[in-house]
Amino acid sequence: MKKTMKCSECGGTAKFTDDIEFLVELDDRDVLIANLTGYRCAQCAMEYHSADTVERVQSILKAIKKRPKIQFARKLTRSGKRWVVGIPPEIMEALGLHGGEKTKLHVKGHKVVAEFPSK
Ligand SMILES: [Zn+2]
Repeated sequence: MKKTMKCSECGGTAKFTDDIEFLVELDDRDVLIANLTGYRCAQCAMEYHSADTVERVQSILKAIKKRPKIQFARKLTRSGKRWVVGIPPEIMEALGLHGGEKTKLHVKGHKVVAEFPSK
């Protein structure tokens, strides 16, 4: 891999670096892919991705897109005065929950969002 390349934007010198970041929006979420290799111009800060970086970004995006959305239909049941929705073991596992975690509930439009502590 060459250490430098000529910047096609300004003619300056772009140096090899491994801290290129790539931000993509996926399903309303911003996904930042960091530590990619490429060249950055010392003069105008233009970034060039190396060929393996483009490949890496594409395979990461493919892997994220392939992940099925977990969706389950659940019936509201009653437990004393409270209403209860069961959380399937697949979701517990996906979120790394074991039970006993404190959960924050809030209403967003017509949805009830349960916020669990992150791993
Ligand atoms: Zn430049």
